[in-house]
Amino acid sequence: MFDNLTQKLTQTFKNLRGQGRLSEENISEALREVRLALLEADVALPVVKDFIGRVKAKAMGEEVTRSLTPGQVFIKIVHDELVHLMGDHNDRLDLSARPPAVILLAGLQGSGKTTTSAKLALWLQEKEKKRVLLVSTDVYRPAAMEQLAHLGRDIGVDVYPTRANERPVDIARRALEEARRRNDDVLIVDTAGRLHIDSEMMAEAQELARAVNPVELLFVVDAMTGQDAVNTAKAFDAALPLTGVILTKTDGDARGGAALSVRAVTGKPIKFLGVGEKVRKGLEPFHPERMASRILGMGDIVSLVEQVQQEVDEDQARRMADKLRKGKGFDLEDFREQLRQLDRMGGMASLMDKLPGMGELPAEVQGQLQDNKQFRRLEAIINSMTAEERRHPDIIKASRRRRIALGSGTNVPEVNRLLKQFEQMQKMLKKMGKGKGGLSRLLGMNPK
Ligand code: GDP
Repeated sequence: MFDNLTQKLTQTFKNLRGQGRLSEENISEALREVRLALLEADVALPVVKDFIGRVKAKAMGEEVTRSLTPGQVFIKIVHDELVHLMGDHNDRLDLSARPPAVILLAGLQGSGKTTTSAKLALWLQEKEKKRVLLVSTDVYRPAAMEQLAHLGRDIGVDVYPTRANERPVDIARRALEEARRRNDDVLIVDTAGRLHIDSEMMAEAQELARAVNPVELLFVVDAMTGQDAVNTAKAFDAALPLTGVILTKTDGDARGGAALSVRAVTGKPIKFLGVGEKVRKGLEPFHPERMASRILGMGDIVSLVEQVQQEVDEDQARRMADKLRKGKGFDLEDFREQLRQLDRMGGMASLMDKLPGMGELPAEVQGQLQDNKQFRRLEAIINSMTAEERRHPDIIKASRRRRIALGSGTNVPEVNRLLKQFEQMQKMLKKMGKGKGGLSRLLGMNPK
């Protein structure tokens, strides 16, 4: 999902040129591209218009700090607005009601309600340590009831037994009584869907909602249905007091627009994403921030931009960027300077997952860089080297390694490891410096 949008936006940002300030002229093409990208991703037109208006208003006259490019500043604005469009933060399930808290799932047939009911039950049981009872009220499709019973057995969650000749409301009421009797924390009610919106289905869902008084009435919608998802969402929102949305099948090749528009047109938060057919690992809480980063497809450039703006000495960054651009001359002095800077910026751990490409570092190196104490030891080792050694690490043979270990209060294997790390870092920086973004962007190079 979103590949299309990501590619488009990436291209747009590459094309964005300008100096010093974002202006009507230098952003108009970028805005046009963003607009097109959103429309192509199936975002509803009014949502797109509103979005573009906001980005434009924010971007106009925005200063571009020296170590950033206009493209990066623009990305941050688009990112912030995307996050806002999708609801700013993760909205958790409200389970504060006196137990059993009832969660009712509604949506069209095939949207993934039954699968999602089971996923949600497992999630609540495992992550929130809740006692859960499941029930299907889809009396029209015995297969759907059987499907839920089967899923329940698979994941070890009890499913209230039902017969097809009962009324959905009676089933739900009795299941609620049962959940009360068993002292369950949560009752999840799966409802019947239809292939299209129809008044009978809505009336039944309304009746169910009145009967069991859910704290969460979640609308389940298939992300692959694009514009239709928006229309369906509108209809359900008009008929039912929805409290949130679960967007399913986001692992498929949907164009992703639904995630952006559903929240905007219903005003209801997306609470979870369905990310696979499997009940285990098939559900994730929805985080607007992460989704926005995913849409932009460039790691969390945005917080980097913020941190860089605040912390990095620009001249120093520029000199470093120069070295990286040339792909050589990055020595242990620079490595130490980087360690210090990263330390000032709150340690590598906070940056690690934000830097595109960082995930490619060997796990061992990642682990070490995430450990702040390790930082200091690394610095101590470098401090114990002579200036000559820092510039030309290849002269550091066995006897020098012993001396450095002694001087820094570490040991030879640690020194060896640092040198190895440095070498790997150098390799990675060269790769990134060649235009893949990442550190070179962080350090203020113009993305090419
Ligand atoms: P219902 O009719 O609304 O109850 O829908 P089902 O739960 O029966 O799901 C319909 C189909 O969608 C099934 O084949 C599910 O395996 C599939 N499905 C549900 N959620 C997801 C998801 O997040 N990702 C993928 N790839 N498939 C899903």
